[in-house]
Amino acid sequence: MNVILLGPPGAGKGTQAKRLEEKHKLIQLSTGDMLRAAKDSGSELGKKAKPIMDAGQLVPDDLMIDIISERIGQPDCANGFILDGFPRTIPQAEALDRLLAEKGMELHSVIEMKVQDEILVDRITGRYTCAKCGAGYHERFQVPKVEGVCDVCGGTEFKRRSDDNAETVRSRLAAYHAQTAPLLSFYGEKGALKSIDGMTEIDRVTEQIEDALGAA
Ligand code: ADP
Ligand code: ADP
Ligand code: ZN
Repeated sequence: MNVILLGPPGAGKGTQAKRLEEKHKLIQLSTGDMLRAAKDSGSELGKKAKPIMDAGQLVPDDLMIDIISERIGQPDCANGFILDGFPRTIPQAEALDRLLAEKGMELHSVIEMKVQDEILVDRITGRYTCAKCGAGYHERFQVPKVEGVCDVCGGTEFKRRSDDNAETVRSRLAAYHAQTAPLLSFYGEKGALKSIDGMTEIDRVTEQIEDALGAA
């Protein structure tokens, strides 16, 4: 089963992708995580992407399409994957259609997570992750069971993304509305789109996604 989680920054795509990964044995493909790894490694891709990501803009389509093309061809993706953060533009979505057709793969569903902009700003500015295992948290909405200790791995160091600040969030939301929102009608016209309420609590969002996947 190959699924796209579509939604603005902070909608909860990563949070839900991790749950789907575990429950359905799928692979989470987060292009944001791939780019951050490239940035940390200092690779050519990372050097190109850094200033663009820091400005809250989108990395060029050709680079993103190459990354995904290479990644979905790897053996661990054969059982199914969850795209988190890709596609983000119409050219990326068209390229994905071509890639899937070439590889004989199908798209099961595209799930839109609807969340209002004001809520997204709160989610993004309060977001942090475990430095050791990457588990996601939020200052108010998703705190570890024991303060300062990661629920998943017991780690005690946490980090924040450099682009998760109030100014960059505005550019990222503008990029979403201008460049990514057109994908809603792109997939809507194909009959692949299912929209869910991403503003309910995390467990309720998971239930809605499970229903949407089952009903496909
Ligand atoms: P995305 O991958 O779409 O950018 P994340 O999954 O990283 O979003 O979620 C953004 C922040 O909001 C994280 O700090 C996460 O803990 C929190 N969060 C995710 N889903 C919810 C929810 N349904 N309600 C409240 N907070 C949430
Ligand atoms: P979020 O879901 O919180 O917006 P991501 O981790 O998905 O963040 O993406 C972080 C940044 O990486 C984006 O603001 C953008 O600069 C870049 N990026 C990630 N995926 C793509 C993509 N498919 N196309 C273009 N840029 C991307
Ligand atoms: Zn951890």
